[in-house]
Amino acid sequence: MAVKSLLGSKKTTEDKKLEKALRPRSFEEFPGQDSIKKQLKVFVSATVERVEPLDHTLLYGPPGLGKTTLARIIADTMKVDYVATSGPAIRKGDLAALLTTLKARTVLFIDEIHRLSSDLEEYLYSAMEDFFIDIVTGEGLGAQSVRFHISPFTLIGATTRTGLLKAPFRDRFGIMERLDFYDVDSLCEIVQRSAKLLRMKLSDKGAKEIAVRSRGTPRIVNRLLRRIRDYAQVAKKDQIDKSLACYALEELGVNALGLNRLDMEILKTLHFNFSGQPVGIDTLSSALSETADTLEDFYEPYLMRKGFIRKTPRGRVLTQKGQEFISQEFKSMNQNKKTQGELF
Ligand code: ADP
Repeated sequence: MAVKSLLGSKKTTEDKKLEKALRPRSFEEFPGQDSIKKQLKVFVSATVERVEPLDHTLLYGPPGLGKTTLARIIADTMKVDYVATSGPAIRKGDLAALLTTLKARTVLFIDEIHRLSSDLEEYLYSAMEDFFIDIVTGEGLGAQSVRFHISPFTLIGATTRTGLLKAPFRDRFGIMERLDFYDVDSLCEIVQRSAKLLRMKLSDKGAKEIAVRSRGTPRIVNRLLRRIRDYAQVAKKDQIDKSLACYALEELGVNALGLNRLDMEILKTLHFNFSGQPVGIDTLSSALSETADTLEDFYEPYLMRKGFIRKTPRGRVLTQKGQEFISQEFKSMNQNKKTQGELF
């Protein structure tokens, strides 16, 4: 589904290429998240002065908000090596090899750290706290444990769900920062910067229209910009203005609030199929044929942020605001159909 790949949480190959080109390289090039930046700058400059590694850092929040970008900026600002991997990709042998070859003060970035297996998580405890790991060689009675020392390093973990990390693991992070959705002004700045890097002309009103509809998320603002650029090219326009942006966004199935078809399906399902009763995530996932992880990581945070749904111990419920919104949308859809029927 085109809209899903456009707005979903997974990175496409095209995304990866574009993200590399557009990724801010310093705190100064990184609009938004002001209080986090302010704190990180202090921690980074203090540790640089002491010539120490930065404390282990956990960055958490919905996908596409800049966790990876910040990890890279931290390493670049400290002028230290940067090694990146991800929770699902890493195996025990790989982790041991990785840790034992790190240079002092290296930033080791682990994306989706909540998806590390629990034995790997425990393996990291001694590495993070005391900078050693014990590797067991051989089996049965002949098994021997060999201790390897590791250069003091910084682990930066990124996660969409801190709740999935065990408390002892979480406690080993000296710095924890929660990234929040961006405001429209910061997103305007981001999309204007991206347009400049892509050599595109973008009017202020066009930028605002894209920013408002990008779910408070830099990755989405950049994806939308790229798609709207295609519409501009086909329409032979050398500037993206508000009307072109609106037209393209409607064509892409992104409404004025930045909600896409699946967001609307979630709200409709809660309202019509379950009559506003709490719905468990697995039930919702099978009703919508979408994975529970995608719903939880990507769709729910924004719908909650908009005040349309609420999580309760018994499941997800539509709020009063959500009910009013979906009833209104349904009414205007029916009204449009009726008007079209009368016209034709
Ligand atoms: P996360 O790791 O949280 O999923 P990323 O750091 O990969 O998010 O960011 C996704 C993309 O969004 C990056 O490639 C970058 O180009 C852009 N981005 C994120 N935060 C910002 C920001 N504050 N300013 C400019 N671009 C940003």
